[in-house]
Amino acid sequence: MSTSNSGSNSWVTNSGANSRGPQCLCGVTTYLKTSYTEHNFGRRFYSCSKYKIKRECGFFAWFDPPMCEHGKRVLKHMRDRQECLNVDQKNVEILKEDMESLKEEIGSLKKEKQSLKEENKNLKKEIENYGTVVIKYKLAMFVLCIMLIVMGLC
Ligand SMILES: [Zn+2]
Repeated sequence: MSTSNSGSNSWVTNSGANSRGPQCLCGVTTYLKTSYTEHNFGRRFYSCSKYKIKRECGFFAWFDPPMCEHGKRVLKHMRDRQECLNVDQKNVEILKEDMESLKEEIGSLKKEKQSLKEENKNLKKEIENYGTVVIKYKLAMFVLCIMLIVMGLC
């Protein structure tokens, strides 16, 4: 694919090299690509752009010289560490999302607490009002009893 080297990996292929390569045997301009295989990781090459649609002419040419064994080991070590960092980064993202949802939960719980407080306040007022009514009722009954007693004595 002629466009496979553009995008996020372009810094790998374009550093110090023209991304346009020679024409392959199909007569199509080849573009610099980067190998991600175990033995040639990061090594750049030109190849027929039709290899993915199985009409390739078989044109292939390395752009970079082969890497020494020590370089390969160092690169593998760095890749492994990068993978660990990627996993850590994913975990951090997950924890951030968890934290955001917990914040939202705390927010809604605070609102709920506030409305429960108000409800409690209203209920207390209602109880107070009820108490006043009971006292008034008891007072009225007392007065009525006195009146009946007085009327009975007359
Ligand atoms: Zn070709």
